[in-house]
Amino acid sequence: MAEFDVDLFVIGGGSGGVRAARIAANYGAKVMVAEEYRMGGTCVIRGCVPKKLFVIGSHVHQEIEDAAGFGWSIGQVSFDWATLVANKDKEIARLEGAYTTNVEKSGARIVKTRAVLEDAHTLHLATGEKVTAKYILIATGGAPNHGPHVPGIEHVISSNEAFHLKELPKRIVIQGGGYIALEFAGIFAGFGSDVTVVYRGDNILRGFDEDVRKHVRAEMEKRGITIITGCTVAKIDKHGKDFTTHLSSGSSIASDQVMFAIGRHPNVRGLGLEAAGVAINPANGGIQVDGWSKTSVDNIYAVGDVTHRTNLTPVAIREGHAFADTVFGKRPVQVDHATIPTAVFSQPEVGTVGLTEAEARAQYSHVDIYKTDFRPIKATMSGRDTRVLMKLVVDGSSDRVLGCHIVGDCAAEVTQVVAIAVKMKATKADFDATIALHPTASEELVTMRTPTARHVRQAAE
Ligand code: FAD
Ligand code: NDP
Repeated sequence: MAEFDVDLFVIGGGSGGVRAARIAANYGAKVMVAEEYRMGGTCVIRGCVPKKLFVIGSHVHQEIEDAAGFGWSIGQVSFDWATLVANKDKEIARLEGAYTTNVEKSGARIVKTRAVLEDAHTLHLATGEKVTAKYILIATGGAPNHGPHVPGIEHVISSNEAFHLKELPKRIVIQGGGYIALEFAGIFAGFGSDVTVVYRGDNILRGFDEDVRKHVRAEMEKRGITIITGCTVAKIDKHGKDFTTHLSSGSSIASDQVMFAIGRHPNVRGLGLEAAGVAINPANGGIQVDGWSKTSVDNIYAVGDVTHRTNLTPVAIREGHAFADTVFGKRPVQVDHATIPTAVFSQPEVGTVGLTEAEARAQYSHVDIYKTDFRPIKATMSGRDTRVLMKLVVDGSSDRVLGCHIVGDCAAEVTQVVAIAVKMKATKADFDATIALHPTASEELVTMRTPTARHVRQAAE
C-alpha cells in the first residue's frame, strides 16, 4: 500500500498550479489538482487574456480615426458590447477546455472543488472527501482588494465584474493608478466611455520610471481620459441606475459604473494554513517561501500570486515549473526574480525592464541616461497628437544597460526582446554595434549616441 493517495496535490488550477501539475506528472508523479472555479485561473479566465482581447478591440476605434489621414473614408461605424463579451467568453471557454485537456493528457487528475489543508499531508475537499499527499503545492492566486470601507462600497465593481458587464458604461469612475486601473481606463475610453481615473498619489504608476509616469499620463489625457490625483473615493451614492462618486477633495462625479482597481491580496484565507503549520510572510501577507518556493513546512510549497512576490503570469509559471523540476525531476532549479520585463497595456502601452533612473542612481555612482521623445511616423499622416518615449539607463562605469523604458505602440513587444539583451548584461556599446532596422520606432534604441543626462556621484555623497 502506498503511504499517500497521491505524490502531489496542487491547490489551484491557474498559471502556476497547472504548469507544476503537468511537469510533475511528466516526471511520473501521481498528481491531483483541485480547482474551485474554472481551469486556467485568473490569467486565462479574468486576467491577462480577456484583458488583452478587450485592449485589442478597443484600439480599433483609434485605428479608424487614424485611417482618414491615409485616405480612408469609413462610413458610419458602430460597436456592440454584447458581441464583444460573447465572443470573448467563447474564446475563454475554448482556452479553459485546452487547459483541462492538457492537464489530463499529462496524467494528472482534476477535481473541480475547493480544497483546504487539514494537516501537513491531508486535504479536505468541499465534496467531503479526504486526500493524503506526499507533497502539496499551494497555488491559489490572489483576489481584488476592496480597500477601507467607504459608504456605498457595495456598488463598486472590480476587474472580475468588468469582464461581464451587461452594457458598456457611458461614464465610469475608476479608482487606482496601477496596472488594472490604467488598462481598463484605456479599454473603456477606446470603446467610447467617458473615463475618470481617481488616484491617491501625485502621479499614476508609482514605482515606474518618472519619465514613463509623466509621459503615459500626458498621453492618456490627450486621449480624453480625466486623471484626478491626490484624492480618494470617499462615498458612492446610487440613484436608480446612476452613481455619484464623492471624492476626499470634496468634488463629485456622476457615472454609470464605479470600479476599484486598488491592488490584489493573496488567497490565503480559510485555507487551513495554521492547521498545517504554514507561515505567512508578515511583510506582504503572502505565504512565506524560500528560494525553492518551499514554505515553513518541508513537504508544502507555494508558487505564484499567493506568495505575493512578483504577481505576473510568466513568473507563476516559471515558479511552478522550477518546483516540479526540483522536487520530482531531481533537477534543482531556483527562479531568478531579477530583471523581469513587464508591460502595462494602457493606451499607449508601457514596456519596462530593469532599473528605473531613480533605482540606478541609488545603486550606481555613474549613471548615463539616453532618452528620446518623438512623433511616431504614423502620426505624421494620421495627424494624431501623440509622442513615443524611449529611455535607456546605463551604468556609466561598466557601460552595461541597466534598464529600458518605452511608452508607445508595441512597447510590450519591443520590451520582451530587449529584455534578452538586458538579461545578458549587454552594454551600450553592444546596442550601438547593432545596425538599426529602418523605419521602426525601436531603431531609436540603437541610434541614441549622446547621453541626455549624466549623473556622477561625488565620493563624499
Ligand atoms: P491564479 O491564476 O489566480 O490561479 C489560482 C487558482 O486557484 C484560481 O483558479 C482559483 O479559483 C483557485 N483556487 C483558489 N483557492 C482554491 C482552493 N482552496 N481550492 C481550489 N481552488 C482554489 N499578468 C501578466 O503577466 N500579464 C498580464 O497582462 C496580466 N493581466 C492581468 C489582468 C488582470 C485583470 C488581473 C486580475 C491579473 C493580471 N495578471 C497579468 C496577473 C496574472 O493573472 C497572475 O499573476 C497569475 O494569474 C497568477 O497565477 P497563479 O497560478 O498564482 O494564480
Ligand atoms: P497595482 O498594485 O498595480 O495598483 C494598485 C493601485 O491602487 C495603486 O495605484 C495604489 O496606489 C492604489 N491603491 C492601493 N490601495 C489603495 C487604497 N486603499 N485606496 C486608494 N488607492 C489605493 O494593482 P492592480 O490592482 O492594478 O493589479 C494587481 C496586480 O496584478 C499588479 O500589481 C500586477 O502584478 C498584476 N497585473 C499585471 C498586469 C500586466 O502584467 N499587464 C495587468 C494587471 C494586473 P499606490 O501606488 O499609491 O500604492
